[in-house]
Amino acid sequence: MSISNLEEITCSCGETFEAELISAISVSDNPELKEALISGEINIVCCPKCGQMFYAENFILYHDCENELIAFVYPLSFQNQADQCRKKMQREFARAVENFAESEKKKINYEPLLIFGIEDLALLLKAEQEIEDEEAVLEHIARENSLNTLKISASLARKFGIPKVLPVVKTKDQPEADSVLAALKILVKCNPNLTNYLKLLDKLSQNKSILDGINS
Ligand SMILES: [Zn+2]
Repeated sequence: MSISNLEEITCSCGETFEAELISAISVSDNPELKEALISGEINIVCCPKCGQMFYAENFILYHDCENELIAFVYPLSFQNQADQCRKKMQREFARAVENFAESEKKKINYEPLLIFGIEDLALLLKAEQEIEDEEAVLEHIARENSLNTLKISASLARKFGIPKVLPVVKTKDQPEADSVLAALKILVKCNPNLTNYLKLLDKLSQNKSILDGINS
């Protein structure tokens, strides 16, 4: 469920007014809010006195269950209280998970992200969208080159900074480094513009054990 509340806002001209600000975004309920957030269109208010339009900072709880992402987004000015914010987030997250149904609880086996400033969340979402675009290209190339793909959990992929769809030459339940490496080489030969897969190829060539965390 996405939530918005009436908040009191002070304009730089000194005028104080009330406006509806979003404080919680559920992407499964309101996918359009994700797009609006990325393009910097949420919580934009207009001062009734001077007409200035500006972004009104507000705490936002961002939840995308499909992508295993829960982010507590505090205003940038809270950055110097990071420890308190983290403790508060952990308390509230634990309480929220308590209230979920048993079947839901099992799905939340990842930690929430602590973010300061909506800009950082927008950058993260934009970067993940670019990865998703590359994943779509991978699926296409895989079909044409009889490669297989393996999907890992979105939260693990985020943690390791890699795409969540991996190419493999052999079908196995777990991604094996040699199998992924061989498939990556074929992939980037077909399309040398897949920046995120090139990065993974580079990482994996240097250290084959980076996939161990995913296998466990
Ligand atoms: Zn004003």
